[in-house]
Amino acid sequence: SLTDKLSQALRNLRGVGKLSEENMAEALKEVRAALLGADVHFKVAREFVERVQQQCVGREVLKGVSPGQQIVKIINDELVRLLGEGATELSAARPLRVLMVGLHGSGKTTSSAKLAKLLKKRGYRPMVVACDIYRPAAIDQLEILAKAEEVAFYADRNSKDVPAIGAAALEAAREATCDAIIFDTAGRLQIDETLIDEVKKLRARVQPDEVFLVADGALGQEAVNVAKAFNDALQLTGLILTKLDGDARGGAALSIKSITGVPIKFVGTGEKTENFEIFYPDRLASRILGMGDVVSLVERAQENIDQKEAEKMAEKLRKADFNLEDFLGQMRQIKKMGSMESIMGMLPGMNGVKLDGDAEKQMARTEAIILSMTPQERRKPELLNGSRRLRIANGAGVKIIEVNQLMKQFQQMQKMMKMLKGGGGRKMMRQMQA
Ligand code: GDP
Ligand code: MG
Repeated sequence: SLTDKLSQALRNLRGVGKLSEENMAEALKEVRAALLGADVHFKVAREFVERVQQQCVGREVLKGVSPGQQIVKIINDELVRLLGEGATELSAARPLRVLMVGLHGSGKTTSSAKLAKLLKKRGYRPMVVACDIYRPAAIDQLEILAKAEEVAFYADRNSKDVPAIGAAALEAAREATCDAIIFDTAGRLQIDETLIDEVKKLRARVQPDEVFLVADGALGQEAVNVAKAFNDALQLTGLILTKLDGDARGGAALSIKSITGVPIKFVGTGEKTENFEIFYPDRLASRILGMGDVVSLVERAQENIDQKEAEKMAEKLRKADFNLEDFLGQMRQIKKMGSMESIMGMLPGMNGVKLDGDAEKQMARTEAIILSMTPQERRKPELLNGSRRLRIANGAGVKIIEVNQLMKQFQQMQKMMKMLKGGGGRKMMRQMQA
């Protein structure tokens, strides 16, 4: 992957005292190869590396920074600049009309619902419009999503005239006082003239304020051609990059942005409607570079973990009287942050790591065990003798060995906390932060 190859390229620079034109060239060649390997378009990769080279050569290595770190910084800054250049907020028009276009399976229907949800949160009254009339299932899919998000839905299952459906939807939206209308259109496996023509006519009829290309984040070299064709025909105003939760390398974003100049607006990070985020160039850049999306992890944690709860916990940790009830609370806080997989994906070096669902199942079992204890037992785990453990195992529907394992884990945690409380604490924290 891009990540692996880039880290390798930079690792090879380790031990280099300062940047010279020679060793830079070597590293940049590897960076270029890595970009190509990640399906970044060859032209984009070449130009990108040239720009980075211009910036590196003749620059003095900063004191206290390794050459590798300095190159990462330069590459990162350049990526952020490129990805974020010309970024604009969503059009402020009200009613706001958004046309969603893209290839089949790119995530148009899902993203339509996600965008509706986001706009609803921002105080709009959204309506989603089914303009993919070729497969009845596509209409149903949008309708189900609209129901789940409690947003208005428009379809005409008897019409084959997509532009007319669009016009009728605008009228229906006006009557229903909806002020954000999202048109979900059909896609093909490849760019298709008839299809583009149809969307062009729809575009002319509904006069959208935004035309978003929905593109699969794992799209390879063809990303550029796809984006170019759609942009030429429909004058795109933005890009929604989907499926960034998988092992998508983000190469498509870089290619599309540099070739078409169309700004990236949102990213899809999962199948659920809440897995949708505003695009931040710095986050994608660090993701591409494999430094992990630490920023967004931290933010998510801040959003979800109640501040007071956290303070209470810190106090408990200081006193080392953390019990199983606290353990349960902690587990629930972690669960609120999202799926284990999406959390792992944001950690450095963990991007793309697949969990087989075991971690989540394990968490559910642990929760069941703790819930099967009496409050007194949770607060005083030392009460848990053999017969109590058997009762708990039966209650939770697990084997007694699992209860024992949990207790062992918990005891280890307690031991660690006692250490933290003692003199080793500060040193250990420093090590963890380094
Ligand atoms: P459309 O054909 O362009 O309308 O695509 P759909 O919205 O029907 O999505 C195709 C498939 O991709 C569905 O199974 C979606 O659940 C899935 N999908 C869409 N966006 C994302 C995303 O951001 N992450 C993941 N993992 N799956 C997504
Ligand atoms: Mg669809």
